[in-house]
Amino acid sequence: MRSNIRITSPLARLVSRAAQRRSFSATWGPQAQYGFIGLGQMGYNMARNLQSKLNSEDTLHIYDINTASAEKFVSETLRGSGASVKVATTVREAAENAETIISCLPEPSHVKAVFGQILAPPPMESSQVPSQDRLFIDCSTIDPASSKAVANHVHTLQQGKFVDAPMSGGVVGATAGTLTFMLGAPDALLSRVEPVLLKMGKKVLHCGAQGAGLSGKLANNYLLAINNIATAEAMNLGIKLGLDSKVLGNLINISTGRCWPSEVNNPVKDVVQGSPACRDYSGGFGISLMRKDLGLAIQAAGEAGARLELGGRAKDVYETAEQQEGCKGKDFSVVYRYLGGETPA
Ligand code: NAD
Repeated sequence: MRSNIRITSPLARLVSRAAQRRSFSATWGPQAQYGFIGLGQMGYNMARNLQSKLNSEDTLHIYDINTASAEKFVSETLRGSGASVKVATTVREAAENAETIISCLPEPSHVKAVFGQILAPPPMESSQVPSQDRLFIDCSTIDPASSKAVANHVHTLQQGKFVDAPMSGGVVGATAGTLTFMLGAPDALLSRVEPVLLKMGKKVLHCGAQGAGLSGKLANNYLLAINNIATAEAMNLGIKLGLDSKVLGNLINISTGRCWPSEVNNPVKDVVQGSPACRDYSGGFGISLMRKDLGLAIQAAGEAGARLELGGRAKDVYETAEQQEGCKGKDFSVVYRYLGGETPA
């Protein structure tokens, strides 16, 4: 049974506060308070896994500007086990009442806006959570510079600790709880952050100090963006030269051209069973997200002075393809269709 007991006498409040602090240091002790901001394609499923793996004494405070997501979450978790769920009416309320707050938002502007609201004066005051104990885990894919600016804001105002933990594994991984997180955090916070992330994923790669998770994520997604276009071009080339698509796919996948887009997400229908190409490029990793991540990687490269020869051209490809009928809203492997690639009957 879930308990929503409110303790009101001053002595009882003190006892309650002490219990909260104990629960913080023990991580999974009684009555831990969590916040989750951004219940979209990824966040919703991550929050579901987190909620189901927390204790029944714990509480998850959820918030999304789209109130329908929060309402759906409540109705789906009402009779199940795991933490109690409370819908916060503002983003600030979700943060103020929690020791651990996870955010999963689309772009840098959203993360800045959300933390602008959380950190707006007057400083947060909660009878239950001392601000030095508050931990913000941002799982959004944004640029490292924006993430560092938000972290700096949180730390300067002494409202908690802020770490970055972007993920890979897509909606499928978020639903199955098998995500890989790339963590940017000081060593001292690892033992606190890791158990939280492992409730939503299978692996945590500690990449270095705050911002390092995003640096790793953007470097990886830069490579993915280029490999995807190169795979589509190579498949198109071989097929136009007369090769059978499956013969060519197999050849590449046992040769030096092998990569994730050729082996797992091949852009040609029926080369890899279950790939988005087999279902008219629906589901998967949206072309607009790839364009966004590539743009962030190019921006970060500019700031770091890292020379990119292919990035600008690849960005043009995604931007143009994204506008075309038949490509809009599809998995990013739809670049093959944009190139005029033939789809086997
Ligand atoms: P999404 O657009 O589906 O979800 C974002 C959610 O944030 C929405 O529900 C939206 O209403 C909410 N939101 C926006 N502004 C808000 C605000 N001010 N306050 C509260 N909520 C707000 O995006 P997603 O696919 O869940 O992706 C989230 C992040 O994860 C992105 O940065 C994305 O690049 C990254 N990511 C996505 C995938 C994927 O396959 N979808 C994979 C890896 C990483």
